[in-house]
Amino acid sequence: LTVLGLESSCDDTAAAVVRQRAGARPEILSSVVRGQTDLHAPFGGVVPEIAARAHAEKLDGCVEQALAEAGLALVDLDAIAVTAGPGLIGGVLSGVMCAKGLAAATGLPLVGVNHLAGHALTPRLTDGLAFPYLMLLASGGHCQFLAVEGVEEFTRLGATIDDAPGEAFDKTAKLLALPQPGGPEVEREAEAGDPARFAFPRPLMDRPGCDMSFSGLKTALLRTRDGIIAEKGGITVQDRADLCASFQAAVRDVLAGKARRALDAAPDGLTALAVAGGVAANRTIRAALEQVAAEAGLPFVAPPLKLCTDNAAMIAWAGLERFRAGHQDDMTLAARPRWPLDSQSPALLGAGK
Ligand code: ATP
Ligand code: FE
Repeated sequence: LTVLGLESSCDDTAAAVVRQRAGARPEILSSVVRGQTDLHAPFGGVVPEIAARAHAEKLDGCVEQALAEAGLALVDLDAIAVTAGPGLIGGVLSGVMCAKGLAAATGLPLVGVNHLAGHALTPRLTDGLAFPYLMLLASGGHCQFLAVEGVEEFTRLGATIDDAPGEAFDKTAKLLALPQPGGPEVEREAEAGDPARFAFPRPLMDRPGCDMSFSGLKTALLRTRDGIIAEKGGITVQDRADLCASFQAAVRDVLAGKARRALDAAPDGLTALAVAGGVAANRTIRAALEQVAAEAGLPFVAPPLKLCTDNAAMIAWAGLERFRAGHQDDMTLAARPRWPLDSQSPALLGAGK
């Protein structure tokens, strides 16, 4: 099977072609991602209107390039997969309309994909993981533990009740006058810092369950920073490094501690602990999760960063898996701003609920 995937739910426009021949490992024939960071930079955040327009403008070019790089034409495809939610509705609509146009013009089957399912199924594309496995999705917009038991079977074991960890990294960077995106900057600063100097909170660790919270951390960091400024008139390079290291250690402890609980709550027979999302790039966090997996006797699987962050190869792959399982959508496929994974029913998608 060969599937074209489209992704336009946030600020990256992407198209990709994924193929899996019977009995063989899946192949990513092309994966084109065009960002819009420059368009949104002056506004200090993603502007939905601008994003939707940019997606509409960039999608055709992305599709052309993805097909060209794969050395294929539309007639060589078996299906067209598209992110149908969750995300910024204007962007999702642009993608769904583009996919419908392609499907109508070619007669190819259309497959709507949940963006989060795309992230959650990526370890099967990259590492051939078998169900069930535990997935931690930790990015700038999401943070959740998912038991992945089938192409359509996801159980959310816990999630952040406020900010996502990537968002907390970004806000921390802002408070310390570091550039955006903040994750890599804070990680670099933390290398020279003392993670034990400031005792930042480990929110919700004293409560049962796998839910997480990161917004309080940012407040604690702000208070500590202002305390140092009040005392000494400013923060030194070492203060900043120590703040970063202490903050990072708190996020690490929450993610690792809750991962341990999620492993306990997950179904029997797990094949791995897998991660996705930009935060999975953090080496300190990664090492802690690897340790948690090792304690549980499980492999730790982290797809390459390009496939951990938003891309269309994951959408093509999730579409291929759904299509192979017999699912297909029609022209009533709706774009959904909200679409929780574990309430996922493909039937609901067509109904636009
Ligand atoms: P989503 O895909 O959930 O809509 P997103 O597009 O913001 O959100 P990603 O592209 O997966 O998510 O990840 C970006 C986030 O990851 C940013 O918040 C960034 O700061 C964070 N990040 C990237 N590298 C690191 C790192 N080394 N350490 C910590 N955080 C990181
Ligand atoms: Fe994403």
